[in-house]
Amino acid sequence: MKVPFVDLKAQYLSIKSEIDEAISDVINNTSFIGGEHVSLFKDKFENVYNVKNCVPVANGTDAIFIALKMLGIGPGDEVITTAHSWISTSETISLTGAKPVFVDTDDYFTIDVNLIEKNISSRTKAIIPVHLYGQMADMPFINTIAKKYNLFVIEDCAQGHLSSINGELSGTFGDASTYSFYPGKNLGAYGDAGAIITKSTDLAMRCKMFANHGGLKKHDHRIEGINSRMDGLQAAILNVKLNYIKQWTQKRIKVANWYNGLLLDVSEVQIPEVRPNAIHSYHLYVLKVKNRDDLKDYLDSNNIDTAIHYPVALPFLPAYSHLKNLSEQFPNVVEYSSEILSLPIYPELDYEQVKFIVQTIKKFYSAKR
Ligand SMILES: *Cc1c(COP(=O)(O)O)cnc(C)c1O
Repeated sequence: MKVPFVDLKAQYLSIKSEIDEAISDVINNTSFIGGEHVSLFKDKFENVYNVKNCVPVANGTDAIFIALKMLGIGPGDEVITTAHSWISTSETISLTGAKPVFVDTDDYFTIDVNLIEKNISSRTKAIIPVHLYGQMADMPFINTIAKKYNLFVIEDCAQGHLSSINGELSGTFGDASTYSFYPGKNLGAYGDAGAIITKSTDLAMRCKMFANHGGLKKHDHRIEGINSRMDGLQAAILNVKLNYIKQWTQKRIKVANWYNGLLLDVSEVQIPEVRPNAIHSYHLYVLKVKNRDDLKDYLDSNNIDTAIHYPVALPFLPAYSHLKNLSEQFPNVVEYSSEILSLPIYPELDYEQVKFIVQTIKKFYSAKR
């Protein structure tokens, strides 16, 4: 048996005729940029994700940058974010001219809300929590702090599609929320795509302008902007997939529960912890394990692909050496960086594959005992 880390081909084959039809429709109508598929995507996404004012953009990184920029974040400002994420979260802060201030994480791999206040300075303008691996940060707490200090909140929902806390969906807490539709994300395009969500129709309008050279109409450039538009092909593909995202999310949860059950008696691995009253949408299924690198090699030699998200935490990347971050400031991230291992998880994964993966993990550890 061979288990790839993600299997985008399997998903395509399950909806092939609809996708093929959507793609040829875009080509026949030459609606390559803007057009009906992008407008339909906006409405459909708002509906399915139960959010307001969706602004489709070119990718999830631009979505964060545009939101920050249109909230007025710039040189001299500080933005607080988690020490454990993909670099998009922090590089976009720097790109506005502001400084990223990293905070260690809690038991759920998300920003430790108890450490936020002591990192707030007179320059702090915003907080970017990340719903890492599919689990939401403690948004009710974060919003309380943000209100107290008058800070903007931008939810990085790139990995948090349709997760929730106390029954409230990701993307509904922040002043702005950003999504990525990178192919491997829970809702994935066939190229790059992203979106910004906001309760403010005014902010949505400014983001839409900025993403399209500063204008809402051609040749009416109100401000300088950038080119960050979602293209028609990606919108058409996403519109098909939006019909399935809820059932795919349920399937991801089912796969995670299979893993959780089968791994229960393996003392060398710690299964992902889920926040009380939260729904984890399992973009990634991440264990903390003993002998991580050897286990990873062993799984690899048994044709099981795994990954590490992420091998080096943000504060310690060469890109941030100028910030002189110390490992003592981030004890949690430092501790688990050598323990985390992401197992394959996607809606098309079947029980036999999950069983095979767990049996292989058990074989590895029983040979060690
Ligand atoms: C994927 C990702 C992004 C960026 O999305 P792109 O569409 O690849 O630009 C941002 N933040 C996090 C946490 C991500 O995982």
